[in-house]
Order: sequence, then C-alpha cells, then structure tokens
Amino acid sequence: MPQHDTEQNQPNGASPGQVAVVPQVTSARGSWWGPVDVSGLDGLFTPEERDQALRVRTFVDNEIRPNIAEWFSAGHFPREIVPALGTLGVLGMHLKDYGCAGRSAVEYGLAVQELEAGDSGLRTFVSVQGSLAMSAIYKHGSPDQKQEWLPKMATGEAIGCFALTEPDSGSDPASMSTNARHEPGGDWVLNGKKRWIGLANLADVAIVWVQTEEPGKGLGVRGFVVPTDTPGFTATVIEQKMSMRASVQCEIELDNVRLPASALLPADTAVGLSGPFQCLSEARYGILWGAVGAARDSFTAALEYANHRTQFGTPLTHFQLTQAKLANMAVAINKGYHLAHNIGRAKDGPGVTPEMISTGKLDNTRMAIEVAREARAMLGGNGITLDYSPQRHANNLEAVRTYEGTDEVHLLTLGRSITGVGAFQAPGAQAGGAK
Ligand SMILES: Cc1cc2nc3c(=O)[nH]c(=O)nc-3n(C[C@H](O)[C@H](O)[C@H](O)COP(=O)(O)OP(=O)(O)OC[C@H]3O[C@@H](n4cnc5c(N)ncnc54)[C@H](O)[C@@H]3O)c2cc1C
Repeated sequence: MPQHDTEQNQPNGASPGQVAVVPQVTSARGSWWGPVDVSGLDGLFTPEERDQALRVRTFVDNEIRPNIAEWFSAGHFPREIVPALGTLGVLGMHLKDYGCAGRSAVEYGLAVQELEAGDSGLRTFVSVQGSLAMSAIYKHGSPDQKQEWLPKMATGEAIGCFALTEPDSGSDPASMSTNARHEPGGDWVLNGKKRWIGLANLADVAIVWVQTEEPGKGLGVRGFVVPTDTPGFTATVIEQKMSMRASVQCEIELDNVRLPASALLPADTAVGLSGPFQCLSEARYGILWGAVGAARDSFTAALEYANHRTQFGTPLTHFQLTQAKLANMAVAINKGYHLAHNIGRAKDGPGVTPEMISTGKLDNTRMAIEVAREARAMLGGNGITLDYSPQRHANNLEAVRTYEGTDEVHLLTLGRSITGVGAFQAPGAQAGGAK
C-alpha cells in the first residue's frame, strides 16, 4: 500500500492548503544561494548586490510564500501588496529619477529572480509595470507624461498596462488592426481590440499601440497613453486560465476612445514597431533572470522533500538516482544564472544585442520548465498539489514561454542572426514584423 504524506513530509508541518516558509538551506560552503550553488555563484555578485537580492527574498518569504497557494487557487491577483512592492523599490527599479530606484540591470535581475521564486504572476506584474508600461513612458514619453505617471507608478499608487497583442495579431504585431483616426481638431480616436493584456482591469493607465495615419507622416504604429477611465475603454478579464493564476490578463475593447493630441507618445524613438520592441527587450531581460528563480525554487522544494521523504527505508536523497536528478537540475540552474549574469553585466556595460536577449529568454525559460517538471515528479503524488511549488511554477512557465516572444520567435531571431536569412514568413507570404 502506498505510504501517504505525513506531517514530517510537510515543510514546517504546514497543513494541506498552506505553503510553509521553507527554511533557508545554506550550502556546505555557506553560499547565500544555498545548496544549488555548485559553481561559485556567490562570487559573481558584490555584497551590495547580494543585500539587494536578500531584501527581496525576505519580502517574498514574508508576503508571498504564505499566501501564494490560496491566491493561485482562487485566481486572485493581490492588488493589496502593490504599495509594498513600491516601497521595496522594484517598480521601475532600473529607471532613474521620477521616484524610481535607479538600480543596475544586475540588481534588477537579482530582484526579479527572487520574486519569481515566489511566483511568476507577481514577477509578471513587476515586469508589466516597470519594464513595459513605465519603460514606454520613460523612453518615449513627453516631459508632462513622465511627470504625471512615473512617480505614482513607482510607488504603486498607479498601475499601468501595455497593450500590443490583439485577438488576430500575436507573434506578428505588424499585422495589428487596432487604429487611431486623426481628427481635424487634433484629437485621436482609437478603435479595435487587444488581448492578453496584463492588469488591464486594474490599471489606471494603458500604453496602447495602434496603426495611425498622421497627416504628412504616413501610416505607422504609434503608442498612446490612455487613462483607463476614458469613455469607450473596456477591459474584460480572461477567466479559466491554468497558468499565471495569481495575475490577471484581459481583453480590451476600444470603442471610439477619444484622446487629445498630448496622449501620443511623441518621441521619434516611438515611431514604428521599434517603439514597443524596445520595451519588450527590457521585459525579456527580466524574464531571463526570473525564470531561473522559479527553477531554483522548484529545486529547493524537491531537495527539501527528498531530505524528509523516506521510501525503501532511507530518505530519497540517499538514492543515487535522486542525487543524479538534483545534480542535473543544479547544473542547469547554475548555467542559467551564469547566462543571466553575463547578459546583465553587458547591459550595465557595453550593451546587449537582440541575440543575447533571445538566447537568455529562450533557454532559461525552457530550462526552468524542465527543472520544475522534474522537481514535480520527485514529489510524487504530493507534487500535483498546491502544497508545493514545482507544479505551480511549471504551469506558470508555460505562459512565460509564450509571452515576450515564443520559443519559435526567439529561435527564428537567432536563426536570422546566424545565417543572415530571415525565415519568419513562409515563402510568398506578406511581410510582417515578428516580436
Ligand atoms: C499570461 C500572458 C500574459 C500576456 N501579457 C501581455 C501583455 O501584457 N501585453 C501584450 O501586448 N501581450 C501580452 N501577452 C500576449 C503574448 O505576447 C502573446 O500570446 C504572444 O506574443 C504569442 O502570440 P499568440 O498568443 O497570438 O500566438 P501566435 O502568434 O498565434 O502563435 C501560435 C503558435 O504559432 C507559432 N508561430 C508563430 N509564428 C511562427 C513562425 N513564423 N514560425 C513558426 N511558428 C510560429 C508560435 O510560436 C506559437 O507556438 C500575454 C500572453 C500571456 C499568455
């Protein structure tokens, strides 16, 4: 007869339905990364960078871990912790001035991997707010737009969303049909639909990308800063998701949304698809760190469980097959951190290329899914419950794999870079502009 779970197998004796705070396990060497650190990860970071990461880890341990199973189960995005994320300084963390923390790319990366060790849904909120919505205003906005929105978005008083994807336009955003009509008096009138837009139902402001035809400037994609209480703006929550349940995505309808000329993102950098693509690059950078955090948390959950779970007379960690799984997972996670670290140092220094970002987003996400699934299997039947994190991470990572460029989009980006030949379109198809 199979042995059912006992209290001994629950970290900190948590009852089913609760997720206990997993005690920090330190490695034999005392690395602050814990036993996953098999390659000297701690030596990659300065004491200040470590302290920033540990501050976020403490927040995750106190505010996210005790509640995440309930939020995920209920499909609840915890709007109530947004001001605390603002106080923590992670909203627009890598932006300077306007109340933003102005931290380095590496510090931002460390912060988001700690958040995603808690849950991808919470890291997704931080990415949408800081790397997409705030970045769009920061990079392309007018001085008035920056003053109006960035300080209150940095504190979490205001929430932003970023609307690029449409029901019929995903990987190929050049095919978008949402449009803005330029009125003789100078106003713009927006019509169309957007889909999968994170936090749109809670947002105070939406950055909406549309096709425009401006007199004298021709047809082109432009971005608008749209207060969500503008008449004609409706956001409907997409229900019944099996991934990212602790965050919210919506369909947006724009029905004759009338905006003043000052709502246009005016910078030359925002003309055409390069406007949103510059923001997507920022968000992808966060993901290539974040995914490794989810993998690390899955590894830690499997190790904790295997330490306590006894079968055939010994704890699972004593079996060679279990050790091989843990060793393979640790090696994969370490490689993910080294990749993220290298890209982060380049971002803080000489700069990153699209290929570097695609490599990190593609490989760290697919690595993280593999680790989360292996960790789930190591927990046996208990692994499919919300008492443990790996299955939740694996489910979340399916969405992470799809947004910000699917695997295929990043493979095609790398293929184009390697061969010099773009293969996004089937021969004879109309040209587009892949994410
Ligand atoms: C949880 C979640 C949050 C999101 N948040 C936002 C947000 O805040 N704002 C926003 O604008 N969007 C958001 N998105 C949308 C996301 O960016 C898109 O889902 C993504 O770009 C893929 O588009 P699609 O879903 O329409 O799939 P499609 O583009 O229709 O792709 C379907 C499949 O076809 C493949 N495919 C496409 N083109 C090719 C090709 N040339 N060669 C081979 N295969 C190809 C894809 O890789 C994929 O496997 C979110 C999505 C999710 C799931």
